[in-house]
Amino acid sequence: MIRLGIIGATGSIGEQAIGVLNSNRGRFHLKFATAHTRRSELELLTCNHGSHGVPELFVTSEIGSQPVLDAIHLENIDLLLVASEGVSGLEYTYAAANAGVPVALANKESLVLGGHILMPIFAEMGGGSQMFGGVSGGGVSGVSGDTFGAMFGGAGTGAGTGAQIVRPGVIPVDSEHSAIFQSLMGQDTSSVAKIVLTASGGPFRKFTPSMMAGITREMALFHPNWSMGQKITVDSSTMMNKGLELIEARYLFDMPGDKIDVVVHGESIVHSYVVFKDGATIAQMGVPSMLAPIAFALGYPYRLETGLPTFDMLKYPTLSFEAPDTARFPALGLAQEALKVDSPCVYIGLNAANDMAVAGLLNDTIGYNDIARVVAHILDSEFLYKTDTGTIDGVQSLVDEVQHKSTQYMKRLR
Ligand code: NAD
Ligand code: MG
Repeated sequence: MIRLGIIGATGSIGEQAIGVLNSNRGRFHLKFATAHTRRSELELLTCNHGSHGVPELFVTSEIGSQPVLDAIHLENIDLLLVASEGVSGLEYTYAAANAGVPVALANKESLVLGGHILMPIFAEMGGGSQMFGGVSGGGVSGVSGDTFGAMFGGAGTGAGTGAQIVRPGVIPVDSEHSAIFQSLMGQDTSSVAKIVLTASGGPFRKFTPSMMAGITREMALFHPNWSMGQKITVDSSTMMNKGLELIEARYLFDMPGDKIDVVVHGESIVHSYVVFKDGATIAQMGVPSMLAPIAFALGYPYRLETGLPTFDMLKYPTLSFEAPDTARFPALGLAQEALKVDSPCVYIGLNAANDMAVAGLLNDTIGYNDIARVVAHILDSEFLYKTDTGTIDGVQSLVDEVQHKSTQYMKRLR
């Protein structure tokens, strides 16, 4: 029985996670669940959640709510799913890391903002230098010999064998990072030539530059392949989502930026892949559904029921791949530039400015093409490079400053 907490249970990821609990009755004990608003929806979702016990429910409008932080420390959970939106995930992810609670991480912004602080703590929890710090004693570091054996040797026995499961400190939920994580299992990271994140390219993949100039808020809120929260839907359309994912991958897999590529793959069947130095390439594939990576993160190291159909390659006789175009998608170019600098303050500036710019689009304060302008303006600002970001408070104060400066700049764009 996995004792679980969920931050952001009423969101797109949170709801699908509860769907996974429903498909795997008896495997989970949902100890608590949170939402930002909509208590009745949270009650409805969790009243028949397919797990034992009655979860404690928190509806919190403040960031870093103390009762939730207390629950992370005191509820004796095995795993925390962090699936809230934007900057709100950081404090909860940090609290879990400090409490020694492994995190199933959907909220990529937590790592973009605080990966330099979080990853060393997560690595200690997993018992290795990083998630895949190398192969030792026949297993991937961070996974005990028993678990490794259960994964690859005793698959038929499934969960409930009584084996002690040692989870890595952080298990990615983001589909690309889950794909990379799965492709790296049992591998020695020193043999990785590069990791490649696939991108759907979003709704504007085929737009000409002149069509790009006419994009509206409503157009940006439609995604062809994925049904997601508003912020990530806009991020997918600008390809800033892929930019944030590059930084997420840089921290999660401890890879330098020049070993992380992006390839546009409109069908979203290949969820990402790893190229090894001997020329072998391992990809993880499946239909475009977040149920699979959510279930993988929640059930690790076991694979759970998701209700997804068995994958049939014959249904996808042609798959396409193309290089991303940073002239039409400048937000991705900004993230690639940030990776070259590879400094927490640049990552924090990029993330916090993007948060503000997307909010500005959603409340009609700025236009679609202003999003990358706001981010570029912040990355060009000197103040960004003068803050100590070595603590979570330091990160938060830089976020506050970026938010303030972005708001001022957006007023000039009106
Ligand atoms: P969403 O907007 O659908 O849901 C967000 C959830 O977080 C809701 O439950 C909401 O109540 C809660 N929340 C919002 N603001 C909060 C705050 N200040 N404090 C606490 N809780 C708050 O978002 P989503 O699409 O589920 O995405 C959640 C996270 O997962 C994001 O970081 C996103 O980038 C990431 N992610 C989502 C998908 C996807 O398919 N939706 C895929 C990969 C990664
Ligand atoms: Mg993703």
